[in-house]
Order: sequence, then structure tokens, then C-alpha cells
Amino acid sequence: MIIRMSAQANTEDSIRIVERVRECGFEPFLARTKKGYVVVATGTGRLSELDILKSEPWVKSIEPLACPYPLASRQLKDERSVVEVGGVAIGGPEVVVIAGPCSVESPEQLFRTARVVKAFGAHLLRGGAFKPRTSPYDFQGLGVEGLRLLREASLETGLPVVTEVMGTEDVDDVAEYADMLQVGARNMQNFTLLRRLASTPRPILLKRGPSAHIKEWLLAAEYLLSGGNQNVVLCERGIKTFETELRNTLDLAAVALVRELSHLPIIVDPSHATGRRSIVSATSRAAIAVGADGLIVEVHPEPERALSDGPQSLDLDGFEQLMRDVCEPLRALAGSMALNI
Ligand code: PEP
Ligand code: MN
Repeated sequence: MIIRMSAQANTEDSIRIVERVRECGFEPFLARTKKGYVVVATGTGRLSELDILKSEPWVKSIEPLACPYPLASRQLKDERSVVEVGGVAIGGPEVVVIAGPCSVESPEQLFRTARVVKAFGAHLLRGGAFKPRTSPYDFQGLGVEGLRLLREASLETGLPVVTEVMGTEDVDDVAEYADMLQVGARNMQNFTLLRRLASTPRPILLKRGPSAHIKEWLLAAEYLLSGGNQNVVLCERGIKTFETELRNTLDLAAVALVRELSHLPIIVDPSHATGRRSIVSATSRAAIAVGADGLIVEVHPEPERALSDGPQSLDLDGFEQLMRDVCEPLRALAGSMALNI
């Protein structure tokens, strides 16, 4: 059930209701929305006792839960959430661009990429230090050394850093060096990892599993939210279909639907979704047109020498071109909107 408090109710009033909900046998969660506090009662408790709360002075309404992921859902709040990562707002008016190499390979490779993506307008730096590779014989990442390089590149460029955490044993290290922790597609349903990440102070980038239903993806987000981490950004990175010409199939309809179903920000990864650098720009524009709050794009100074994901990585000129392709339509759109006012 969702118990909406009146706008005048303060934190103490809401906490009192939280305790009453617990006494009724439900597990309560407290959330704050623009319209006031909301207490979400999950699990199975005594509904008739909960109903009595309607007569409490600060309780505005009690309604049944409309979906299995109440904390991630639009039922909780009409407004969309904004997640701050090192001072960058994801989910606000500006389309956020996250760029960098698939893997951190060397100081030269990382710093060169970081400087260029910063110069052309990226907001955040990406780069993998712990790599989930299909083959155990492929490059597995530089580990903590990679994290150190990311932090140095961040200090030099001012770009906050997002990097993947693969296992619970690495959470503290990654959280020490990175501004945002990425849950990779293959780990979307690693519930032990999700539970652990729910208690880190860092925002989470939650990639969609290659075969995950939208509902499963939002339920994975619910693990983070219900465990106490409210700073979750979703990332559509393509799903497995019968198609073989593309590495994955970019599910743009999912982006539009997730915006309806959830208040969480959502970004698109056109690199992993396609596996082909030649269509990264076109799919990026499509992603923004359908409502993505941002992009995460792989960039490498010499993609043909990359230790991972070279064919989908833009070179430095390609990134500059992408920023023109993406930014100019946005400026034009902003201009035409201004004319319409
Ligand atoms: C990555 O971002 O480099 C990555 C491995 O992504 P995904 O988990 O989406 O495959
Ligand atoms: Mn990659």
C-alpha cells in the first residue's frame, strides 16, 4: 500500500506512520516527493489495521500498490528523479554524455582520451578497470591500478568517473576511487552485489541485462532503492535477439516505456547496443529523440589496437563528430522551442 502524507506533515509525523505500518506487519519505506512524504508498505501485513491510519491527521490517502517495484515506479512520484554524480545532474534538462575507453589500458591511452572527451564537452569519464570478459583468456583489466589512473585523469580533467564493479569484494576499492559505480549487464541480477551496493554512498549505473525483461530490470533497481541507495540511473545497452549483424539490439521502445513506468533517469549505451562505431552517432540521436537523459559511449585513441571493444569504439575525431551530431540538433530544438514560446 502507498500512504501519502499531506504536504504539511514533517519528518517526525512521517516516521510515526512508518512505525505504525511496521506494527501492522508490513515492511515500511519512507520517500520524499515534491508533494510531501510517502510511506510505502510492502510485504504481507494486516490490511484492516493499516486502514485505521486513514483517520490520522497527516494521512491524505492510502492506495494499493500498482506494480511490483513501488519505489522505482511513477506511482511513488509524478516527477522524474535527478541523480547527482560529482556535481553533474543526470535526469535534468541537459543531456549528459559519458565517454571514455572500454578498458583502462595505460596512462597514455586514458589521459589522451580523457583530455579530448573533456575538450569536446563530455560530462563524465568512463573506463573499465575490472572487465567482465566472455573469455578468461581476454584482457581482464588493470584492477586497482586502473582505478588509480581513472582518479588521476578525473583530477586532471575535472570529469567525474564511472567504472564497473564486478563483485562484492571490490565494492570498497571501486567506491574509494570512482564517483559512480556501474553494475554491468551480466551482473544485473547479481542480488548479493545489488544488496551490497544499496548501502554504498555512491550513485549506481544499472545496466539492463542482455536478456532481461523491463520488469526484471526495474526490480533490480528496486533492490538498490529498497536497500537505501536512492541514486540509481538505468542504462539500456541492447538486448539479445535473433539478429546477428549487430552485437545486440538497441531497445529504444524500452527507453520510452521506462520513462513512463519509472521516475529514475535513463541513459543509452549505443556502443554495446550496436557493436559498430559507424552507427553510434545515428543511434545516439535516436536515443535522445526517444527521451534518453544521456549517453555512455566508448572512445579510444587507436580503436584498432584496443584491448577490448575496438570495433565499437569511436576514435577521437569520431567523438568530436558525435558531439556535433548530437549537440547541434539539440541546439536547434532548443531554438525552435524558444520561437514557439
Ligand atoms: C562496458 O561498459 O564496458 C560493459 C562491459 O558493458 P555491458 O555490461 O553493458 O556489456
Ligand atoms: Mn566495452
